[in-house]
Amino acid sequence: MAPFFFGGVHPRGYKELSCEAPILPIKPKIVSIAMSQHIGRPCAPLVSVGDIVTVGQKIGDGDGLCVPVHASVSGKVIAVEPRPTPSGTEGLCVVIENDMQDTLCPDIHKRDSVAELTPEELTAIIREAGITGMGGAGFPTSVKISSGMGKVDTVIVNGAECEPYITSDDRLMREAPEKIAGGIRIIQKILQPERTALGIEKNKGKAIASMRAALPEDMELLELRVRYPQGAEKQLIQTVTGRQVPPGGLPAAVGCAVFNVATCKAVYDAVYEGMPLVRRAVTVTGKAIARPSNFLAPIGTPYADLIEAAGGFACEPYKILCGGPMMGIAQHSLDCGTIKGNNALTCFAQEDNHEVETPHCIRCGKCVGVCPMRLMPLQLNKAVQRSDLAALDKGNVMDCIECGSCAYICPAGIPLVQSFRTAKKLLRDEQAKQKAKEAVK
Ligand code: SF4
Ligand code: SF4
Repeated sequence: MAPFFFGGVHPRGYKELSCEAPILPIKPKIVSIAMSQHIGRPCAPLVSVGDIVTVGQKIGDGDGLCVPVHASVSGKVIAVEPRPTPSGTEGLCVVIENDMQDTLCPDIHKRDSVAELTPEELTAIIREAGITGMGGAGFPTSVKISSGMGKVDTVIVNGAECEPYITSDDRLMREAPEKIAGGIRIIQKILQPERTALGIEKNKGKAIASMRAALPEDMELLELRVRYPQGAEKQLIQTVTGRQVPPGGLPAAVGCAVFNVATCKAVYDAVYEGMPLVRRAVTVTGKAIARPSNFLAPIGTPYADLIEAAGGFACEPYKILCGGPMMGIAQHSLDCGTIKGNNALTCFAQEDNHEVETPHCIRCGKCVGVCPMRLMPLQLNKAVQRSDLAALDKGNVMDCIECGSCAYICPAGIPLVQSFRTAKKLLRDEQAKQKAKEAVK
């Protein structure tokens, strides 16, 4: 067995709230589709107010590190304007009034076989389908694939779903194992790896059985120990291969490429069904939700609609997160529409509120012992308080994967992850300023 990754924590899972809830379709009255849903350049809208659109029609695209976005419902474009997005800020969105007809774009055609398609043609299909990493990172999948060609000997499929509360990948593995396996086969055809391994945490017995029955013999299924953040890219690579991605490096640097199970399903849909990434499984859960559920939600489904479909609030929510409790982003508007990387909406009750009004570090060092990136969270937090960019840079804050293990273990209740998100933004802004200065020179 490969060496286990350093650090990590064992938060309570709360998966039982929604893991037996099948993925049900939902039909929102409107969708608010963000033009920026991935790492890279935002899309420019290709439609205007008043246009009639069909499911799967391209409504935004751009050059460079950019993949298109598509209409997730058929109907009429009623606005192209800034609206709330899950990142917590406003972003340009195309808003479509759903005509409830699900009229398909005439460009969508099914395919029986991929035998005749070259790796480049398959990658182009994945790009045109607007597929991005669906585990949350949002990196364009076609770029990950094309930059890994000739370098990758190991494809790792991520079915760990280690974040508490979230069960959308678990359900997908139980309900669509053949399609996930079909998507992995397409990625294999492109990257030609020597080894392909799907990793699932041991606590998902039904998903393991379902995927084991669907995977062909040349794909390994690894039952992973349950430890957060087992599903983080670098930690998964270390567990599966024993290799360590160097600081600031990409998985391809150690011959690996990692794809989430939902991304593999999206690859299958794009290649065989001709369907771009227009909907995804979303878990709506938490103690403040009356009926924790999983939905197949068109991209852009307003959070308010998801909560209503899950029976509404069972009590006054204390906090609503896009994502799970460890890495999720606090939401301030239920008008926000889902994006491609949005796997869950977690709604906490007042009893979950463990915030400390004026937290003080007691120098216990627990945060250091759990950081899977071997960072020094307590020192980084002090550097953030002093706005000491040099110390943040020296302390490798950019390597922080925002897993939240340090904040989870901190007895003082210091909101460390928010602090490091701010620090990373400060450093990025500073680096951009320096670049601009050099360009002027
Ligand atoms: S410093 Fe970053 S990587 Fe380390 S435990 Fe905290 S959030 Fe995770
Ligand atoms: S865990 Fe919290 S209290 Fe302990 S050293 Fe780290 S930041 Fe300080």
